[in-house]
Amino acid sequence: MTESGIADMKLKALLLITLLSLAQLLSPALAQQQEPLVIAHRGASGYAPEHSSVAVALAHAMDADYIEQDIVLTRDKVPVVLHDLQLDAITNVAEVFPDRTRPDGRYYVLDFSFAELQQLTLQARIDPVSGQVKYPQRFPAGQGQFDIMSLAEQLELIQGLNVSRNQQVGIYIEIKAARWHRDQNYDITAAVMRVLHDYGYTDEVRPTPVYLQSFDPEVLRRLKREFHTLIPLVQLIGENRWNESPADYDVMRTAAGLEAVSSYADGIGVWVPQVLLGVNKQGQPEFSAVITDAHEAGLFVHAYTLRADDLPKGVSGYEQLYAWLRKAGIDGVFTDFPDRHR
Ligand code: CA
Repeated sequence: MTESGIADMKLKALLLITLLSLAQLLSPALAQQQEPLVIAHRGASGYAPEHSSVAVALAHAMDADYIEQDIVLTRDKVPVVLHDLQLDAITNVAEVFPDRTRPDGRYYVLDFSFAELQQLTLQARIDPVSGQVKYPQRFPAGQGQFDIMSLAEQLELIQGLNVSRNQQVGIYIEIKAARWHRDQNYDITAAVMRVLHDYGYTDEVRPTPVYLQSFDPEVLRRLKREFHTLIPLVQLIGENRWNESPADYDVMRTAAGLEAVSSYADGIGVWVPQVLLGVNKQGQPEFSAVITDAHEAGLFVHAYTLRADDLPKGVSGYEQLYAWLRKAGIDGVFTDFPDRHR
């Protein structure tokens, strides 16, 4: 950036701060906590198969602030919007390509071209343990046709809906299993950044709001160091037993750990039980210190995932869960039910 550009930005920032302070003086309500961001988790996945165009359009119509995309790569290196590395639990792959499993008996997205994936339909998620539909009250299994979307297709859909609905709904991309992809000579981070570049997200003014998220700190560090991205980065914090990355999430969740995260990320994504530890005998919520410690380190905190049909133990309803997370100071929530916030 040029020196005059920097001076211009400083002036704009100063103006903004002045305006904000004025607004706060005039309206005490503005000084209070902002409404947390509503992030549609895999689209409005409580109502239509996750990551389908229908789930995206519904989330948009429900006025979500952001719509989430989980990304994995196809054999021909197309970033596609799918949560799992395998197709088994969320598509009809076993009917269409019965003999395309790996030795572990599973169908991997990475073994199929994007054209091949177009022959499948997304469907209700099957629970791997029970073999049954995971959320039986949601869109029925075996019904309808829902194409697997590329990241590019989903960006075009959201940008188009932003035009027709005169909205600024953002995207919230998770780069999945970067090390696993790399072990098979695929660079998922570079592939995602190429699409983001093609759709204007490396321009000074981005076409929509955007976040990038990963469980793997190395992915986020690389985005800063190698891609010099200015897109806000979110460190997802899981449980060590999930084996999402070699990071130690128990350490990451401490005050010192969060301080370290703030050197390369702008915010964190935490699992709801890491914030709401439980409900005591009096029916009151017990919170961890993670939100306060993260705020202390200058990080915002988004929590995953709110589900009206799968509430934490001791919570009486969706609205109670949301009210408690707000009380704890949450800045955003990933939800399968974005309409429950409007
Ligand atoms: Ca995700």
